[in-house]
Amino acid sequence: MLKIGLTGGIGSGKTTVAKVLEVLGVPVYYADDAAKQLMNTNEALKQQLISNFGKETYFENGELNRKHLAAIVFNSKEKLALLNSFVHPATIADAQEWFSKQTAPYVVKEAALLFESGTAEGLDYIIGVTAPLTIRLKRVMNRDHVPAEEVKRRMANQIDEQLKMKLCDFAVHNNEQQLLLPQVTALHNHLLQKAKEATL
Ligand code: ATP
Repeated sequence: MLKIGLTGGIGSGKTTVAKVLEVLGVPVYYADDAAKQLMNTNEALKQQLISNFGKETYFENGELNRKHLAAIVFNSKEKLALLNSFVHPATIADAQEWFSKQTAPYVVKEAALLFESGTAEGLDYIIGVTAPLTIRLKRVMNRDHVPAEEVKRRMANQIDEQLKMKLCDFAVHNNEQQLLLPQVTALHNHLLQKAKEATL
């Protein structure tokens, strides 16, 4: 079974591509969603967060106090790195467990910070989704109902899109000229072929 990473800048259309692949029958692990869930369910991780960010990190009912955590990491690269140093390994372990249960020819791990988090290692190929900055800005502003400044602030936490794409094996161009579905279908067929070759 091949393990494929799927990444791209904010608003590039990673999740959209992942949903298309799911429709084609490909199992997808959504790393960002999983990380959020693990912060609520993984006891070892919860203890690490409490030890480092205070007991206010969780409400009395055990649920994560996102505002408290966000306020701590918002203006501190060090604190954000510390948070990631707990969350990323927990997510990598969770993804490994998920991979071990899959039986499809290939599976996909979708993650915004695939390279930044060091989780690209162990993957056979990486798909990068790319779109021009102006289109990404417009799409996220519409999707999240936030101003351009907020989207730009989120983008500042990610490595440069061109650099990111250089690290990828395959590119999906999600702009307003090239159609998404034919590109994803062609890539899917290519990956099925690669998966077949890998079993020979
Ligand atoms: P994030 O990193 O913020 O989670 P993302 O890379 O997962 O973003 P999506 O959520 O897939 O991006 O796409 C951003 C928005 O743009 C969504 O509302 C999506 O429906 C829309 N979108 C994506 N691709 C297209 C497209 N080809 N045509 C029109 N709208 C699109």
